Amino acid sequence: MGGNGDRRREAFEACFGGLAAIGRDPAGGWTRLAWTEEDRAARSWFESEAAARGLAVERDPAGNLWAWWPGSGPDAGGVVAVGSHLDTVRGGGAYDGALGVVSGLLAVGELIGRGVEPERPVAVVAFADEEGGRFGVPTFGSRVLTGALDPTDVLRRVDQDGTTVAEALAAAGIDPGGFGPDPARLSRLGAFVELHVEQGRGLVDLGQPVALGTGIWTHGRWRLTLTGEANHAGTTRLADRRDPMLGLAAAALAARAAATELEAVATVGRVVVEPNSSNSVAARVSAWLDARAEGEQTLDWLVAAFQAAVEDAAGRNGLSVELTCESRSPAVELDPDLTDRLDACLRATGLEPPRLPTAAGHDAGSLATAVPTAMLFVRNPTGTSHSPEETAELDDCITGVRALTTVIEELACR
Ligand SMILES: [Zn+2]
Repeated sequence: MGGNGDRRREAFEACFGGLAAIGRDPAGGWTRLAWTEEDRAARSWFESEAAARGLAVERDPAGNLWAWWPGSGPDAGGVVAVGSHLDTVRGGGAYDGALGVVSGLLAVGELIGRGVEPERPVAVVAFADEEGGRFGVPTFGSRVLTGALDPTDVLRRVDQDGTTVAEALAAAGIDPGGFGPDPARLSRLGAFVELHVEQGRGLVDLGQPVALGTGIWTHGRWRLTLTGEANHAGTTRLADRRDPMLGLAAAALAARAAATELEAVATVGRVVVEPNSSNSVAARVSAWLDARAEGEQTLDWLVAAFQAAVEDAAGRNGLSVELTCESRSPAVELDPDLTDRLDACLRATGLEPPRLPTAAGHDAGSLATAVPTAMLFVRNPTGTSHSPEETAELDDCITGVRALTTVIEELACR
């Protein structure tokens, strides 16, 4: 590939390496939670990388950063926006979010370097608090922007230390009073494209570096409470026990069985046991079911099958059961026309992008409710995400940047 290839690799490593140096967690991986010192450093990294390419950065009223291609200003319509997020979960990987922001900066920088003139405004966006790792509200910045989240409600949310979102924003130099949606900005957007590392092994199995997204699965979280009776682990006869741990065991197996049957996913990943004593039969177990499926009906079936199996186990073990939905986000279909257009322009460069759905939430899912939105996924050899094992080959990252460059050129420059 010669000089151009080497130049692209160096540019990628320099830009990506700058962000990856921020928030290294001594416990492993990367931790950049929203509105912390690490987040502030990542946002200032974004501002200087944008400035180095001549892009002008501004912040919207939802706390998201927008870097504008000069001369393409924020006031005209038909804006083409690309981007992702800078924050991570605790002990997360280097690529989730970061890859999309870095690729956006490099793609716009490449077009500027080539002397391409945009016909429509172009921006690289870094969305605020996508992961919800601090306040438990994922896709925070993109949903405040679209109005899907009520700002007065979320400003009161607290982190583990009792700091509210409003206090965290103020500490980061952002006035919580001006916080809220920006419908005028949304109405100027013509398209949004998010490039993201794949959080599964779809592209590994297909032997392709880059895919186009079809949609985002519906996702819900339910709290299960199983109540039995605390008793002595030695003296209580088995026949006399009302042990909620047996209900929990049935619940974990039922989640797996229903998900397998319905080609969905379900996880019991969090449990609170009372009194949590090694020589007592437990009194109560609370567990959380995270379940995701391609369609709403499938998710309903999954939860119904889970509930039936848990109630059956509860009946056999003398337990009472309560299952309550804590959150549910609908399935999102990415824009089929925009996706077909991207498919055609990528095929013209020799790529053959397969189409993949995702069971992970993304800012693209928030934007898709208001703006024609598409997603690009870059191959992840481990298929792992939200973990230090998350990775992508340098060559695939370069292919992703080139794909995004082609996409911006197609949407904004002709
Ligand atoms: Zn992400």
